[in-house]
Amino acid sequence: MDFSLPEKARMLGDLCRDFADRAIRPHAAEWDRERRFPVEVFREMGELSLMGLLISAEYGGTDVGAVAYAAAMEEVAAVDNATAAAWNAHLTIGSLPILYFGTEEQKRRWLAPLARGEKLGGCAFTEPNAGSDLSAIETRAERVSGGWRLQGRKNFITNAGTEMSLGPIVLARTAADRFGFFVAPAGTPGFELGPNLEKMGWRSMDTRELIFDECLLPGDHLLGENDVNGIRQATETLAIGRISVAALSLGLARACLDASLAYALERVQFGRPLASHQAIRFKLANMGTRLEMARLITMKAAWLYDRGEPYRQEAAMAKLAASELAVDASREAVQIHGSYGYIEGEFPVARYYRDAKVLEIGEGTSEIQRIIIAKGLGC
Ligand SMILES: Cc1cc2nc3c(=O)[nH]c(=O)nc-3n(C[C@H](O)[C@H](O)[C@H](O)COP(=O)(O)OP(=O)(O)OC[C@H]3O[C@@H](n4cnc5c(N)ncnc54)[C@H](O)[C@@H]3O)c2cc1C
Repeated sequence: MDFSLPEKARMLGDLCRDFADRAIRPHAAEWDRERRFPVEVFREMGELSLMGLLISAEYGGTDVGAVAYAAAMEEVAAVDNATAAAWNAHLTIGSLPILYFGTEEQKRRWLAPLARGEKLGGCAFTEPNAGSDLSAIETRAERVSGGWRLQGRKNFITNAGTEMSLGPIVLARTAADRFGFFVAPAGTPGFELGPNLEKMGWRSMDTRELIFDECLLPGDHLLGENDVNGIRQATETLAIGRISVAALSLGLARACLDASLAYALERVQFGRPLASHQAIRFKLANMGTRLEMARLITMKAAWLYDRGEPYRQEAAMAKLAASELAVDASREAVQIHGSYGYIEGEFPVARYYRDAKVLEIGEGTSEIQRIIIAKGLGC
């Protein structure tokens, strides 16, 4: 069995690592402190052909496949998880509904500018009363003369309020058990953005409430010719998002391990480096082992996806294992740094600790992943 990364994935990973080291690392702490979305980074990612990794060349993307995608995501996520998280939302839920459900004309109108990096994508599933249970969605899209009328609220939506935003893709109920994805450009009358939310972590990322009050959209803003029957048909095609969040988590866990190792080798207590105390060595050994395990299941899920084989069970396992690792690794990283880890600024691990928690929540919580996995096991 060959465990080496394919050449294409290695090259893309190298490109992303170099780019992130140069354009993101020097500024990540400042963007976090100032809660500033780095629009210039996303523009440059467009110039580097990094904004359409899962979209085919005919619509302006590079369609690198999930293995290369995961390698690329881990590299950026290891440098700044908030920037990588916004990139993740753009590349998956912010673009793929148009690829999967859109007409040819809609793909040319909306997907191509997203894939070329001229626009930034986002997607609105979550609502005040519908988080894990998307079948409870209350936002309604009603057919009216000349189009659709949207009524409802979406919560915690990524990438909807930046100057690059295309306007979110909105999942709305069209009938008792029918749903549709709608593109809602910013500035449409009846569509309002709430203020950027103050988050524990991922602070440079744009996250808002969306309010639709008698918002009229033209008929061709429903993706595809028709709405779809059932919430699963609408959302399950997007399970690749779990591989993406797993890769985001791997990057964060790796950053925690790298920072902890460097600190433990340098910091001397009781006349020896921390790294020579067994309690600290064991923490590092556990982090390294779990990182390798989580990366293997993530890459297996990505490999299955690329082969067109069933991958949802492995994607759920990857998301669960990697996100829980990221949270544990960030806690251990702060512990290894002692009080220096608790203070913002000199070391990045306080930011890693704040960024990690949401990885267990977004794209399906750990509990929801366990429900999916248990079902896949046959119970
Ligand atoms: C920073 C950030 C960015 C986000 N970006 C987006 C975005 O771009 N688009 C979008 O649509 N959403 C986004 N979200 C929302 C996110 O996907 C949801 O918050 C998430 O799906 C969980 O929903 P909820 O918060 O309503 O929790 P709930 O569903 O209310 O769950 C609360 C708790 O109950 C548990 N629980 C729920 N049901 C069960 C069950 N059956 N069995 C056992 N436990 C259960 C959950 O695991 C969780 O621990 C974002 C959230 C954050 C914080």
